[in-house]
Amino acid sequence: MPEIRLENVSKLYTEDKRTSYAVRELNLKVEQGEFIFLIGSSGAGKSTLLKLISGELPPDEGTVYLNNANIARTIGPWRVRTVRTFGVVNQECMLIRKRTIGDNLLLAANAAGLRRRSRPSVKKALGIVGLPGVESYYPAELSIGECRRVELARALINSPSILLIDELTANLDDDNIWDLMHLLTELNNKGTTIIMATHASQFVNIMRRRVVTLVDGRLIGDVRNGKYGDIV
Ligand code: ADP
Repeated sequence: MPEIRLENVSKLYTEDKRTSYAVRELNLKVEQGEFIFLIGSSGAGKSTLLKLISGELPPDEGTVYLNNANIARTIGPWRVRTVRTFGVVNQECMLIRKRTIGDNLLLAANAAGLRRRSRPSVKKALGIVGLPGVESYYPAELSIGECRRVELARALINSPSILLIDELTANLDDDNIWDLMHLLTELNNKGTTIIMATHASQFVNIMRRRVVTLVDGRLIGDVRNGKYGDIV
């Protein structure tokens, strides 16, 4: 089962001729089956870190390993494999508004190479997130909470070993956040690794999982059974 390891990883961005670190000299090891909350204020580097882990962004310095293989060096065939290894929920809504939920998920299933099994995969993923039978709806016909669950279903379409989640809980009320946290706990109990960037401090404090904290791109805290803001 996949283990993730980052060794001295840095990512730089250049904007208006100014170069700055989004992630800086970061070391992190994640075993299969862990549940990690990634916290830090806006701009701390959470989204960049998630993209470095999935191989979507190559590091400028250091190396990201998945099962001891350098993701950047094996980017060709690896791309296909990473698509299958990772399920990703982005901060911004990825659903196409003019397509039905069923079509949105079929597109994701096809992109993951599940052409023949795509319809059963869509049904199964919607069942897991508690929304069976919404295939014919359009995103605008669902509540925000339901839309976020559909996005989670989209990420689950290829039964990934690792779920990378960026702010799934933003703009949701407490009941919806609880539902999602329950769902993620169930997936984690079945062995899925979960790395979730979030600002939902009260839920982080109740769930007491591993808490990794970033400040200005640097990892400043990594605490087991941690609370929001724990450094050691
Ligand atoms: P977070 O997810 O914690 O809000 P990000 O990873 O989005 O943080 O951003 C980290 C830093 O990198 C911020 O200063 C942000 O402005 C910068 N940044 C992120 N993406 C880009 C980009 N595509 N181009 C330039 N700067 C970026």
